[in-house]
Amino acid sequence: MSWKISASVEEILKKGRDAAVLSREEALALMRLDLESRETYALMESANHLSRAQFGRKGEKHMHIGLNVEPCPMDCAFCSLTRQAGLFTDKVEFPLEQILAWARQGQAEGADALNLMSTGTFSFSRLLEIGRRLRQEVRTPLVANARDINHVEGEQLLDAGFVGFYHAVRLGEGTDTPFNPERRIQTIRVLHDVGLQWMNCVEPVGPEHSPEEIVDLMLLARREKATYSGIMRRINFPGSPKESMGMISERRMAQMVAVSRLVMGDTVRAHCTHEPHSLSLVAGANLFFPEVGSSPRDGQADTGKGRGRSVLDCAAMLREMEWNPDLASNCF
Ligand code: SF4
Repeated sequence: MSWKISASVEEILKKGRDAAVLSREEALALMRLDLESRETYALMESANHLSRAQFGRKGEKHMHIGLNVEPCPMDCAFCSLTRQAGLFTDKVEFPLEQILAWARQGQAEGADALNLMSTGTFSFSRLLEIGRRLRQEVRTPLVANARDINHVEGEQLLDAGFVGFYHAVRLGEGTDTPFNPERRIQTIRVLHDVGLQWMNCVEPVGPEHSPEEIVDLMLLARREKATYSGIMRRINFPGSPKESMGMISERRMAQMVAVSRLVMGDTVRAHCTHEPHSLSLVAGANLFFPEVGSSPRDGQADTGKGRGRSVLDCAAMLREMEWNPDLASNCF
């Protein structure tokens, strides 16, 4: 067996390591590498090098707070908060006091952002109200995660104190979800127009998704100027319609994290992965999402009591992989 890696892969990795723009074909070649190959380890090394050179050792913890649970009528196939999943039968909003307590705790534990997630029919004015209230209570930057918005709503989010908006054109958008991918992209452009940062992840990745579909979303993140992007795998909740398809492993996810990292080059301020795991932290990721409240990946109403990892857990994992969670965020 040769100790050398393939010359064509080496050529792509040299470009990626230097933050040069990769073509779609180059990204696809990296996606197709055998997990056991030296080339895959070289890929992860290149992405790791790029992130450590660019992000100054900062390990980011952006805390997800899910504001409500409901049997959501949008019925996205990968989500546990749907009518069809049948896990949640009542519409319940977490009390403001609980949301404030999570936010204060997040700030005290060093969260770099608070990402407020709401389900498909959550009141937009209520989201603004919660944002305004949190703004009075905590200094941690606020990021909204909600339905598609227009320019007026974008301005309202800014006025309420939000600085960013998490939004993704999901894998299977328009088939696994009732949403139009073009409308999702319009929202991303609204964010740039009004001055909200666009936060993104390529998600929710499952074994059924082709390298082409996945790479096209990586390229979208670069083209549309995400503040950060990365890879999140689909988690199959109990009874998920996707259960028979299985899930990708953390190892496969780390390979994709590395490809995505090289695709993003020097355009991003961080690189995320979800759920938190160590391997991707040596493959280009430096951003985790601790979670409390509702989560589309959990059958528990409060994922902090379920799958969600705490800010302190995430900080400990970052430290173990020699990222420093205590430095100031690069994202804001
Ligand atoms: S992903 Fe959002 S819109 Fe889709 S079903 Fe879940 S909560 Fe509703």
